[in-house]
Amino acid sequence: MSKKSRPTKGKDSARKHREQPSSVRDEREYPVAKNEEYEAEIIGLTHDGEGVGRVNGFTLFVAGALPGERARVKVLKVKKQYGYAKLLNVLEASPDRIAAPCPIFDQCGGCQLQHLSYEAQLRHKRQIVVDALERIGKLPVAGVGADDTSAAGAIPVHPVIGMPNPWNYRNKAQVPLGEVEGGLVGGFYAQGSHRIIDMDACMIQHEANDDVISKVKEIASSLGISAYKEETGEGLLRHVVAKIGFRTGEIMVVLVVNGDKLPQQEAFVDSIREAIPGVKSICMNRNTRQTNVIFGDRTDVLWGSETIYDYIGDIKFAISARSFYQVNPVQTEVLYRTALDYAALTGGETVIDAYCGIGTISLFLAQHAGRVYGVEIVAEAIADARRNAALNGLANVDFAVGKAEEIIPTWRADGITPDVIVVDPPRKGCEPELLDTMLAMRPERIVYVSCNPATLARDLRVLVDGGYRVEEVTPVDMFPHTVHVESVTQLVKNETGRGNA
Ligand code: SAH
Repeated sequence: MSKKSRPTKGKDSARKHREQPSSVRDEREYPVAKNEEYEAEIIGLTHDGEGVGRVNGFTLFVAGALPGERARVKVLKVKKQYGYAKLLNVLEASPDRIAAPCPIFDQCGGCQLQHLSYEAQLRHKRQIVVDALERIGKLPVAGVGADDTSAAGAIPVHPVIGMPNPWNYRNKAQVPLGEVEGGLVGGFYAQGSHRIIDMDACMIQHEANDDVISKVKEIASSLGISAYKEETGEGLLRHVVAKIGFRTGEIMVVLVVNGDKLPQQEAFVDSIREAIPGVKSICMNRNTRQTNVIFGDRTDVLWGSETIYDYIGDIKFAISARSFYQVNPVQTEVLYRTALDYAALTGGETVIDAYCGIGTISLFLAQHAGRVYGVEIVAEAIADARRNAALNGLANVDFAVGKAEEIIPTWRADGITPDVIVVDPPRKGCEPELLDTMLAMRPERIVYVSCNPATLARDLRVLVDGGYRVEEVTPVDMFPHTVHVESVTQLVKNETGRGNA
């Protein structure tokens, strides 16, 4: 039951508005008012993980609330079509609500969905994909199991492939450092500020990384090394970056330093080696710019090797201080196996891997294809890709630096005719020029790996209109407890006229 009823609109109230102070005016125009408390019905969950509440027919976004709940909320902000409210207390809880396991879930902001059971998170992520396909792509989605009464051509969207243990999955930690009396702290920035909150363990981080961060903080404190202060640009140690190869156990520590030297470097390195037995590489990156970008341009090895190694499937990857590498290696393998499965290679195919990064998918494909062409805009990533191809003895891959939408048309002009095109674009999806070129090249199959269901749906519409059929979609949970939704879609050349409408 709400406290306020919908205001009557009319000439009278319009005239009164001009005479009222703005706070009162808000109350008259909108069915809710700032700073007032209401009871809200929560009817949905946004892509950002906020509850969608209704009060007097008005939409209020309520962080922390879940669909199916009734909650007492306090309005923070009112806009024309919707507003924001703070969750005061849950009056009727969703059966999917759980107590967030992490004690700093509310303050940290790194995870958004810990208050939702993992099973419900996976259902929510599937629904985001389904909604995008239907609403943005105007594509028909098949029902699940016995409910499937959908028409021919309706697209199966499979359940999200989750993790058996959705914790400690990250292989990389990047922690900003600060100072308090008595030593260094490091953890995360308090919400809406750059105040650093100290943290000893992150539940989605590999335990070895947490251990590295704690030990480095201790060692730096005992050596009296200062932390960088963003406001003044003074102080030395900016970030500690810890990386671990899940399959090899090899550990890399990168100290990001505001300056050219680390005082007592030798003692620092010796202490790290003593405290962290698995360490294979200790690097220092210099970043003297007043910026919130973590890395500067120069990296030196202080001790050990320049790289650590890890495997995805049976492909070995070299990981350097700056190289891009997927942060959840367990689910990355699941994602790539799905992409490989959808590529349906028999050994002789020509394949294009667009947005190839360090060539991870390309190398997976190369083991089963005739020739693979990878393209990526970041030159350092392509250098890593070439190195990784050599490391695995894969000679049937060619990598190019550039924009996919510019390089692939030149390949077309050169007479390259792919049987399969794989794309894995950033959040904004594929450029229209690339989609046009793909349609002109007309490969047998297209595999679309996506981190954003909205742009996926937009691009699938173009491909379907251009003569492809969406066969199926498999979402994979790469980032449990966060709102990220990754998926793999298989499209095939539509020769039968059996489209998706
Ligand atoms: N397939 C890789 C990386 C995917 S992330 C993997 O699985 O690891 C998307 C990649 O696209 C990033 O590496 C980014 O640098 C690259 N990128 C962004 N815009 C691009 C463009 N227009 N052309 C080619 N690559 C681009």
